[in-house]
Formats: sequence, C-alpha cells, structure tokens
Amino acid sequence: MTDSPSAPGSPRLAFLLALLMLTAALATNFLFYRGLVDAQDSALERHVRQLADYVRADMLAGVFEQIQAHQRMAARLSYHGLDDQAGWRREVGMFKLHHAYYHAIGVLDKDLHLLWVERTGQPNGDAELAFAPARQYGDSLEMIAQSGDFLVARPVLLPDGRFTLTFYHPIGQGDEHAGFLAATFSVPDAVERMVSDMFRDELKLRVRSRDTVIFPHPEPPDYQDYEWRAGFSLDLDGDGDEMQFEFGMSESGRVQYASALPVVALFGGSAVSLLLAIITFLALNTARHARVLATSNRRLGEEVRERELAEQEMEMLVTHDPLTGLPNRTGSTRYLKRILADSHQVQGQLALMFFDLDQFKDINDSLGHQLGDQLLCEIPRRLATVLNERDFVGRHGGDEFLIAAMRPNREDIERLVINILRSLDHGFAIDDHRLFVSASIGIAYFPESGETVADLIQNADTALFKAKNAGRNQFAVFTREMFSQAQHRLNLSRDIRHALDADQFRVVYQPIVSLKDFSLIGLEALLRWEHEKGYQVPSQEFIRVAEETGVIGRLGDFAMERAVADLSEWKKQVAHPPGLAVNISGAQIRESDFAEKLSVLLHSYSIDPALIHLEITEEILIENLMRNRRLLKKLHDIGMRIVVDDFGVGYSSLAYLKNFPISVVKIDRGFVQDLAQDKEDQAITRTICSLASDLGMQTVAEGVEQVDQLAMLRSFRCDFAQGFLFSKPVDADEIQKMLQGELPWRNKFDIETSI
Ligand code: C2E
Ligand code: MG
Ligand code: MG
Repeated sequence: MTDSPSAPGSPRLAFLLALLMLTAALATNFLFYRGLVDAQDSALERHVRQLADYVRADMLAGVFEQIQAHQRMAARLSYHGLDDQAGWRREVGMFKLHHAYYHAIGVLDKDLHLLWVERTGQPNGDAELAFAPARQYGDSLEMIAQSGDFLVARPVLLPDGRFTLTFYHPIGQGDEHAGFLAATFSVPDAVERMVSDMFRDELKLRVRSRDTVIFPHPEPPDYQDYEWRAGFSLDLDGDGDEMQFEFGMSESGRVQYASALPVVALFGGSAVSLLLAIITFLALNTARHARVLATSNRRLGEEVRERELAEQEMEMLVTHDPLTGLPNRTGSTRYLKRILADSHQVQGQLALMFFDLDQFKDINDSLGHQLGDQLLCEIPRRLATVLNERDFVGRHGGDEFLIAAMRPNREDIERLVINILRSLDHGFAIDDHRLFVSASIGIAYFPESGETVADLIQNADTALFKAKNAGRNQFAVFTREMFSQAQHRLNLSRDIRHALDADQFRVVYQPIVSLKDFSLIGLEALLRWEHEKGYQVPSQEFIRVAEETGVIGRLGDFAMERAVADLSEWKKQVAHPPGLAVNISGAQIRESDFAEKLSVLLHSYSIDPALIHLEITEEILIENLMRNRRLLKKLHDIGMRIVVDDFGVGYSSLAYLKNFPISVVKIDRGFVQDLAQDKEDQAITRTICSLASDLGMQTVAEGVEQVDQLAMLRSFRCDFAQGFLFSKPVDADEIQKMLQGELPWRNKFDIETSI
C-alpha cells in the first residue's frame, strides 16, 4: 500500500502544491502590500501638496505684507525727502520688531550709494555685500524708478553661509525719484519665520533660484535624489526670474503619517500564506492519508466480505449435505436445537422422526452408487409432498433422514408418518429403472422421549431399530422400555467385546444325523457364552446384539477359527470326519475379504473346503443379490457347501433358491416342532423336501425331538436330522467320543422300529 513518489496524492505532490500555493499567496500578498504602500504614498503626496498650498498662501501673504511695508517706507521717504534719517530709523526699528529675520535695510541714493543702513544685530551680516549686486541691476533699477515697481535681486551668498534676498523699492517716481530702499533678509531666517513651526517639522523644503539651491545651504547630499512631491514657483517682481519651492515629507512627518498597515499586511499576510501553505500541505497529506485509509478500509471491507462469504460457504459445507442440499447431521442438530429452544412458544406436539430406507444398501450395491444417490435426492422431494413448509428435513447420513414436525397431537403425527410411508409406495423412476423402496421410521416425542436434540435423535433411532426388527415398512414410537432394551443392548455389546478379550466364548457342536442309518454325518458349530456373572447368555440374544453393534465380525471369526481348529484335531483321529456346519451372519458375508480370510484359515489347518458347510439365512440371499450370488458361487467353486438355515420363515421360495449354488436346505424348527400333529406343517415340510430333492439339494430337519417326527421325516425323504432327540450341542471332547463310535442315540431307540 505504499505510494510511489510521483503517484497522485504522494507527499511530494502535496509539497509541490503547497509550495505553489505559498508562492501565489505571497505574490498576492506582495501586490496587496504594494497597493497599500501606493495608496499610502498618494495619501502622503496629497497631504504634502496640501501643506505646500498652506505654506504658499502663508508665504505670499507674509511677503506681500512686507513688500507693502517696504513700499510704505519708500513712500514716506519720498514724502519727507532723504532728510529725516531719524524718522526712517524709527520706522525700520518698528518694522524689524515684526520681521527680525531682515538682515539689513538701507537707503541708496540715485547713484546707488548707500546712504543709510540699519543692520540686524548679527555680527557677521554684511549689508554692503548684500546690496552690492545693485549695480548689476542698473537698468532694471532705472526702470522701476520710472514705473514705481519693485525689484527682487537674485540671492546673494554671504560669507557666513547664508543666502540673502534683497528687495529694491524706488523712493519717489519719475522726476521725483530720489533713491532706493533696499531690504535684505536672510533666506534661512525668513523660511524659519515664515513657514509655520507645525509645517516645518513635517515638511522638507528646498528653495532654488535658477539652478542654485538657496535653502537649505549647503544642500544635504540626500536632497539631490529626494523625491519632491509638491512645489510652486514664485516670481514676486514679475521679471520671469522665478524661485522654486519644493516640498517633501520629513522623516518625522513620514513617521507620523505612515501607517504600519502595509508592513503588517506584508508580514501578517506572509505569515498567513505560510500558514495556509502548511495547512494545505497538511490537509493534502491528511486527505491522502484519508484516501489511503479509505482504500485500506475498502480493501478491509472487501476482505471482511470475502471472509464472510468464505465463512458462509464453510458454514454451508459444514452444515449441509452436498448431495441433497439438506442440512447434514451438524446442520440438523443446530436447527433442532433452535426449534427446541423456541418450542415453549408453540402449542402442539413436536416429534422427531428417524427415517431409514429399507434395503437401500442392496440398491446401492446392485445398481450402483450413482443410482443410489439419485434415489436419495428424490426422497426429500417425495417427503415434501406430505410435509408442510414448517416441517424440517435433514440428512443424518447414508439413507437416514431426520424429520421434525409439529402437529396438534400425536394422532396427527402418526397419520403424517403413515402418509410418509405411503408416499413411497408408487416407487421411483430413475434412469431406466423403476425402484420400489420402503422405509422404516422411529418417532421420538418431545419432551417425553428426550429433552435434548441428542436424546431425541438417539431415541428416535432406537424406535427405528424396533420398527426395522418388526418387519420394516412401518414405524415405531419410542418408549421407556425401548430405552432399557437399548441400554441392555449397549451393555451386552460392551460385555461381548470384553468376553472376547477374556476368551469367555466356547464353541459346542450338535450332531447332524443321516435319516437313513442314523450315522453321524455332520456337526453344527454353535457359540456358547457363560457370562462372568455366572449365567448363560442365550446365543440368539448375543448374536443379535453382536450383529446390531458390529462386533459379529470378531465373534464369527472366533467361532470359525475354533471350529476349524477342532476339526483339524478330529481329522487326526478319523480318516473321514463329518462335515462342519458353521453359522455365518450377514455382516460377515458383507466383509470384502470374507472368502479370502476363510481360504487362508482352511489352508493353514489343511482342511478340505468340502468339509465346511456355510449356514446362511434366507435374508442373505435376498439382500445384495448380485454380490452375494457371486460370493457364494466363488465359495461353492472352491468346494464349500452352502446351507440355507431356518428355511421357510423368510421370504424366499424354493424356486428362488435355484439361482444360488445351494447344497442343503435346513427346514426351520418351527415346522418340525408339531410335525406329528400339524397337517399344514407336514404339507410344507413334505413340499420342501420333495422340491429340494428335485432341485438336487439335500434337506436337514432342525429341532427334532421326538421319534414320531423321525418317521414322518423319513417318509418325506428328508435326508438328515438335527435335534435333542439325537444330541444337544456338546463340546469338542464329547464329539471326539462320538467319532470313536460312541453315538449316544444308538441305544435310545431302535432304528428298525422307528422306520
Ligand atoms: P441355528 O443355526 O438354527 O441353530 C440351531 C439352534 O437350535 C441352536 O440354538 C440349537 O441349540 C437349537 N436346537 C437344536 N436342536 C434343538 C431341539 O431339538 N429343540 C430345541 N428347542 N432347540 C434345538 P442355539 O445354539 O441357541 O443357537 C441359536 C441360533 O444362534 C442359531 O440358530 C444360529 O442362528 C445362531 N448362532 C449360534 N452360533 C452361531 C455362530 O457361531 N455364528 C452365528 N452367526 N450364529 C450362531
Ligand atoms: Mg444354524
Ligand atoms: Mg437353524
């Protein structure tokens, strides 16, 4: 964010602008100052001119008054003749009282001889010198003797350094002319007296006659170049010989009149200009900083916005499922928390539903994930047809969805759930397929089935489990009992793991007997678990919990390994040991390395795969059709025999079985139990036996307890039997005895009679 020096708004540019501004301001200021000075000058000039006018008027008045006095004196002399010297001297004395600056006043005869003279008291005065030039004016004096006018001689410099000015007045005129009155005054004294003190201080005065400066004398050096501002000329006797009076302002006058304004304006203005320049510089810099700040603020704003967007995106990613666009587990939890926080405001029943597609995995595995994904995307759309806008749908994971709905009462909620299940009935058209899926739903009511989101989800899940177990395509409402069942399941699961670690499981074997000769042709390996608290846990129970909680893999591996180990022991004793049937649960089959693991195990114990019978349930045949068929075929191909356990209780038909490499069908105990009495069971069992035989499969009857059942089974051409009638499941030692010929059922009944 640094600016280059030449970039607009750089400090250098700000400085240049400020400098420019300073120059302009200083120039303007100087012009203003000049204007003020000029104005002051012209005011001064006006003032000087005015003063000069006053002086001129004063001087003229004074001089003419003196001239009149001279003329009166000359007239009296003419009248009295040149005899009354005393009278004249008196008169001169009177005159000099008023005009003390007169240097000398004298009377000359016609031939210009000085007759009388009255001097001032000044010792260095020299009347003769002053009057001496009279002779130069002979002609002019003759003329005034005729005309009666007066004459002003040119100034004369006395030895004491003063100029004097002499007036000549004729005494008598024409024929009566008797002489001349000469009156001389000292120019500096006269100036001093005639120019008022007031003006003299303020003014500078220079008097010239022709080109000679007669006042002041000697002329001060600075007078020559002095700018004289006003003046006038005086030609008293009208002979064209003028005296110039020039005026200027004295220093003291100048000080008195000069205003400090221009200087103040100059300095003040300069200071203000400088200040303005500094302010401009600072303002530009501040503006630049403000701009830089604004830019960085804008960038910051953009960054914040970008970050907010990124956060929103992150938030979206964190809280939403990219496939369906629905809130994911995190998003759902957050949303549901808000709903719960606001729930007290709403009247009605709030329910959280756990929705899970039945057998989605099969669709996924058999038709591919892409199709499965498409189906998952269709689910929210289908749900929207029965839900309202305020209901919530989120994806919990896989094929599990969370639905939250508020309805006036539980009946309405349950009606909604039924509608949800029905909405799936007409299937989904995806690509070229028409998929039919059902779902199971678990419901948890707030607050009875949980006051927190976590509890509600868990309990709805528990209810879902119940719904699944109850046969799918239905719903279940969470109850307290379910909670304790769930708790029990959890405890049991934990105990199973512990028991596996502690080697508490055993494997027992139940003989499978040929119905032809009651010989021992097979053994079914069955798990037994004595809990460390001392009781026997029913295998159906722990197997189910192990399947539900994912520990069945380990448990199944244990059973298989133990059974194979025992078989390898028996093999050492008898050349042809009976086949070993091992129960395999769906979760084991689903493991990708199931076949490989089994092969490795058999190989390590040198067991012929033909000795192994894998007991699977009908369910395995139905789910994940393609894969399981491939897997079973592979196992069959390496020689193992596939047995369908508990046949008849599930969904599959015998016809369906022909698609699989099945060797043996085990008729469920449920049909065998009442075989002797129940006609229906007889019909089913007979059908199973005959169809299986037609399909090249063998049959085993499970749970044979009575001799009556034996006879009937033999009549149906059932191949083998298994049940307490022959032997309960026993441990490996007991089996060892049987292998040595000690068959416990040998003595129990007579083979022949039973036939
Ligand atoms: P199953 O595979 O159908 O096993 C036969 C069950 O019937 C055994 O119960 C056996 O004790 C019982 N039984 C046999 N003859 C009679 C009879 O005459 N009367 C009566 N009432 N019952 C008889 P068990 O051992 O309790 O096993 C229950 C189920 O647990 C088995 O049913 C099987 O599905 C499962 N199971 C047992 N061991 C394993 C195992 O190692 N792995 C797997 N995946 N499942 C196993
Ligand atoms: Mg079995
Ligand atoms: Mg069975």
